Amino acid sequence: MIKGTVRKVSGPLIVADGMKDVQMYDVVYVSEQRLIGEIIELRGERASIQVYEDTGGIGVGDPVYASNEPLSVELAPGLIESIFDGIQRPLNLIREAAGDRIPKGISIAHLDRSKKWYFEPRLNVGAKVVAGDVLGHVQETPAVLHKIMVPPNVQGKVTWIGRGENTIIDPIAKIQKENGEEVEVKMLQLWPVRRGRPYVEKLPPNEPMITGQRVIDTLFPIAKGGVAAVPGPFGSGKTVVQHQLAKWADADIIVYVGCGERGNEMTDVLMEFPELKDPRTGLSLMKRTVLIANTSDMPVAAREASIYTGITIAEYFRDMGYKVAVMADSTSRWAEALREMSGRLEEMPGEEGYPAYLGSRLAEFYERAGMVRVLGSEGRTGAITAIGAVSPPGGDISEPVSQATLRIVKVFWGLSAKLAYSRHFPAIDWLQSYSLYKDRLRNWYDTHISEEWSVLVQEVMNLLQEESELEEIVRLVGIDALSAKDRLKLETARSIREDYLHQNAFHEIDTYTSLEKQQLMLKLILKFYEMGQKGLESDIDLDKLFRLPVRESIGRFKYTPENECKERFNQVMNEIEEQVTRLIDDGGYDYV
Ligand code: ADP
Repeated sequence: MIKGTVRKVSGPLIVADGMKDVQMYDVVYVSEQRLIGEIIELRGERASIQVYEDTGGIGVGDPVYASNEPLSVELAPGLIESIFDGIQRPLNLIREAAGDRIPKGISIAHLDRSKKWYFEPRLNVGAKVVAGDVLGHVQETPAVLHKIMVPPNVQGKVTWIGRGENTIIDPIAKIQKENGEEVEVKMLQLWPVRRGRPYVEKLPPNEPMITGQRVIDTLFPIAKGGVAAVPGPFGSGKTVVQHQLAKWADADIIVYVGCGERGNEMTDVLMEFPELKDPRTGLSLMKRTVLIANTSDMPVAAREASIYTGITIAEYFRDMGYKVAVMADSTSRWAEALREMSGRLEEMPGEEGYPAYLGSRLAEFYERAGMVRVLGSEGRTGAITAIGAVSPPGGDISEPVSQATLRIVKVFWGLSAKLAYSRHFPAIDWLQSYSLYKDRLRNWYDTHISEEWSVLVQEVMNLLQEESELEEIVRLVGIDALSAKDRLKLETARSIREDYLHQNAFHEIDTYTSLEKQQLMLKLILKFYEMGQKGLESDIDLDKLFRLPVRESIGRFKYTPENECKERFNQVMNEIEEQVTRLIDDGGYDYV
């Protein structure tokens, strides 16, 4: 092991001399305490090292040991249900071993090496395999079938394959390469965090990731393999949105990377996540979740690594052919860690002190999302959808991290404190938010839902836009100045907001709405609008129109169970038709 010596200590940054034959991003161990660090700058034999543990007590002259390995994650059964820190140290196992605070220099395997998993082979001796082929399975949790794959860079013929209880470091297969060399395959694979795992090709994101959240699926859909940002002013319902996505999004695996500001923010996540129930299985959502948590009392550098650790784990599950959703909360805290390290490196600061490479680093993270054809002869596809929360100070998204993020992501769900204040949840502001996937996804909606879908959505969008313009007029000259046509528009927009966009995450039925039901809901609201317009031609009394009992039926339709929707829809459509027609026919008919 090569040994250098500490020359300077600056918080989590250490400069060491005499570092021969080392490379950027190699892991090193600092002092006899063996604190874990990573080389982030190299000039000749002088290395700048970000240390992932508290450097108190480290002094000039202390030794630095090189591992000559890049910072890597361990990939094997045991990932699911784990809670890791930014460099994949298992917080739950450490807590069991050492209590709440992570002791310095603790050496504990990232994944449990003693636990046995039942390996079920799916190939026979003699099978020809390439990298990515599935050798067999481990039922990791009731919700996740862990596929054991031929590691990247290996191909050949299976000369032996095991079955039964194995630890992750037991051999489970032998593969003879073309040059005759035999490779022993274990369930455990290592992969450097800063390098994306290989795949065959990236595919265009043409399929939506359905979330069951109406404002998202209808107005601002995200593609499978897409990238989105959600800003989270305090109390705007960010946590609830994330929980709803984790529970309901059409994803097999959830990787949640939490970079908390205050320790207790992350504690909330650690407490709340395991309590979420997975609607698919009725079990804890943790049965298909990997949590990565950095509290603020952990060294800042581990935060910087955490999003790469998270996305590498996501790539591994993607490679199995799964759809993975990665949520990073918050990337602003991550960027602050980057800024702090950059400052200590005495780099030239960019805007607001963030390094000039802030944008490219963020892009490196988001670029690893996508729908891809993965390695392996089966031609499987897998996807990573990445959702990053940003928490701009004061909620002002003109600051550098928000701006850099917006240049990269294709979907923006703008949470608004104002909407949250008026108890409109989810507080996604329809005027501020956007999805650049809409056009791409149109084909999918045409064939899987109906060709009418896009027309309905466009009409809803138009009404919401017009509402904001009309409201401006009302503010200036009062509601009486509006024509009957415009008043009907305003009322319809209100119905869209209250009966449609407003969705109660805590209501048993309202919490999730299928696309089919979303379409029926839209049709009801717009049918009422259409009938109202017809009524206007006959000069009906608008106040009477707005007070028709069918409006209650429209408003309550969201609470109709999915399996009763079609029938109820037909009933309500008839009610609209009947009641408005009656109003037109005998003008004075009074329902109320
Ligand atoms: P943040 O994480 O932004 O501080 P939360 O997600 O904790 O905010 O939301 C604050 C509160 O708003 C919640 O406790 C809940 O009462 C309410 N809320 C947020 N979203 C919804 C929703 N979709 N349905 C019902 N209530 C919601």
